[in-house]
Amino acid sequence: MSYKSRLRIAIQKSGRLSQESQSLLKQCGMKINLSEQRLIAYAENMPIDLLRVRDDDIPGLVFDGVVDLGIIGENVLEEAELSRIAANEVAKYKMLRRLDFGDCRLSLAVPTDSDYQGVSSLNEMRIATSYPHLLKRFMTQHGINFKSCLLNGSVEVATRAGLADAICDLVSTGTTLEANGLREVDVIYRSKACLIQRVGEIDTEKQALIERLMVRIQGVTQARESKYIMLHAPKEKLQEVIALLPGMEDPTILPLANDQARVALHMVSKESLFWETMEKLKAVGASSILVLPIEKMMN
Ligand code: ATP
Ligand code: MG
Repeated sequence: MSYKSRLRIAIQKSGRLSQESQSLLKQCGMKINLSEQRLIAYAENMPIDLLRVRDDDIPGLVFDGVVDLGIIGENVLEEAELSRIAANEVAKYKMLRRLDFGDCRLSLAVPTDSDYQGVSSLNEMRIATSYPHLLKRFMTQHGINFKSCLLNGSVEVATRAGLADAICDLVSTGTTLEANGLREVDVIYRSKACLIQRVGEIDTEKQALIERLMVRIQGVTQARESKYIMLHAPKEKLQEVIALLPGMEDPTILPLANDQARVALHMVSKESLFWETMEKLKAVGASSILVLPIEKMMN
């Protein structure tokens, strides 16, 4: 593969998505040396280059076809798309899949002591945000006029500082809002990290590599959500035991070397076992119950 046909993936250099983006790619088999603070990291064992940038730059790099893939929060992606559309510019990309990290919500928050009776309370108010287009879309859908105060950081202090009446900011636990005397009143957007691809021509080898990567990502994600369950159970209680297990496939039943009355049961489950289920299993006669993490999966 020539240098030009190396797959280019943009990920966040440092921030809330960077660790998970890197570990996802590593779990997909990419050997990358990320110790150096370089913009581009080359995979040693695959024709892939990682471009490490501010998350705000990732949508544009994909829209403009500078990189082939990008891992980005849907909130940033959709804001960038709306911003391009507003400027009559092109914003094309393919959504490959949502990922299992980067969960957050974009919410409206008002000072704790303020009277809030639904979004209409914000009519003609000034709202501070880093997401003016997502906010505008929501407010337009609800027929509310508002004044915008664009801040790219410190949004949570805007009301205290007298810059705005309310804010629209990302929230995951809500503790930052609380610490700043704010109350979350409406969720306007729910976000996760996602994997996007540029549109346009792509050589067959690169496309084949993307498809291999997608199978691996699916395997990693599925493995994270699944558990390997092993236990011993009395033969005559097998149906009761199986009924308690949230399974993906039929379990494997194996004989035990020195016990004719009992068998070993192995299975992959989509969920972990709750303590309550383990107690129920034990109550119907199961023993030696093990719940193990799975590293990789391929169906
Ligand atoms: P950069 O320096 O790359 O521009 P940033 O400060 O804009 O970084 P981060 O705070 O690292 O961005 O957040 C990156 C993304 O992580 C967010 O856009 C969002 O999709 C996701 N995220 C998950 N939880 C949260 C949260 N509690 N607050 C903010 N973002 C979150
Ligand atoms: Mg950013």
